[in-house]
Amino acid sequence: MKNTIPKNGLYIHFPFCQKKCAYCDFFSEDYGFDRISKWASSIVTELELLQEQGIDFKNINTIYFGGGSPNLISVDDLDLIISKLRELCKFANIDELTMEMNPGNVKPGFFDRLNKNGIKRLSIGCQSMNDDELKILGRIHNSEDIRNTVTLAKKKGFKNFSLDFIYGIPGQTLESWKDTLHKALNLNVEHFSLYNLIYEPATLLYKKRDTGIIKEINEEIEWQMYDYAHEILKLAGYEHYEVSNWAKPGAQAKHNSIYWYGGKYYGIGPAAHSYNGKIRWWNVRNIDKYISFLQKKKLPIEDAEELGEKEILTEFFLLGLRTSEGINISELENFAGKDFSKIFQEIEKKFNKDFFNKYAKINQKKIKLTHRGWFICDYIISGFLDICEKSGRYKDCKK
Ligand code: SF4
Repeated sequence: MKNTIPKNGLYIHFPFCQKKCAYCDFFSEDYGFDRISKWASSIVTELELLQEQGIDFKNINTIYFGGGSPNLISVDDLDLIISKLRELCKFANIDELTMEMNPGNVKPGFFDRLNKNGIKRLSIGCQSMNDDELKILGRIHNSEDIRNTVTLAKKKGFKNFSLDFIYGIPGQTLESWKDTLHKALNLNVEHFSLYNLIYEPATLLYKKRDTGIIKEINEEIEWQMYDYAHEILKLAGYEHYEVSNWAKPGAQAKHNSIYWYGGKYYGIGPAAHSYNGKIRWWNVRNIDKYISFLQKKKLPIEDAEELGEKEILTEFFLLGLRTSEGINISELENFAGKDFSKIFQEIEKKFNKDFFNKYAKINQKKIKLTHRGWFICDYIISGFLDICEKSGRYKDCKK
């Protein structure tokens, strides 16, 4: 897989949603839709300004419209952006062109326009096939809308789908999660992203949990849900290739793989992040400010940071351990300019033998987490980083 990962991605952030979901802390607003056309012309201006600054979009391999709910865009605004992209990028080089969709507000004619514009992959935010759970999450759609969206898109010729689901929803049981997975499998798609619900501060769900209106479900049940998904999807022919992602052979998400394998990406739109291999920068997290910057022909960059030794090594662990490829130890040593054998001895000391049988596989060439390890990967990764920090390795990294 690693050798086939594209190198350069372009992300376009659409920052509007019909209604804010109860668990969501992505940057999106559920008002001021009259600004969508201004957002679209700002996207075009941002692309032009970046090109003037010397960014070569001809190297772009993947384009991803994320949000927000990008399917709220009008067909004219979509045409405007795509025609600018056709001018700047080499469409023959584009391996994957994806749009996220909310099944609650898909207009039937929209699929024809996506087809015409070469958008072949749909990433649909389903979250559950249980209508009560969808209400708890504050979604605007029900399970029937999910089925109708996938069926209609298939009729219109779409063949490449990724469906998102969430487990650990308050009130959800192992049985209802199994039911969601079985119904999802019946939709017969190529890719699934399954996320554990996170209570993000400043979300409605977080407040409800803090005031006792809802109750977080037990971590042991969440583990059983994750484990069940791992087993049932494997039986159905999906490879579990990243902590939260499963794909039929050859259907791994190419754009997201650029993030997981440390590739370069440009993020366009409010709050979007970019990374060129050394520096990370991000745009203003405010739609009006974003539009105003671009009306004045200025790039809407809020801030930037050059990644230091510690951040680079952290990313290496963070990204490598989240994928089924794991971390290649000689790559790690080349990358950080160090012999890491002592570090691994420390890791083996900190985490006992039982740990390695259950959670990780380590040999002279690779370290990989098992799916049990993935379930607690934040804990494991912070343990690894702690050991690196204590050994003073960060100081000596050569990059
Ligand atoms: S549709 Fe997606 S981006 Fe919009 S509020 Fe819901 S989870 Fe957030």
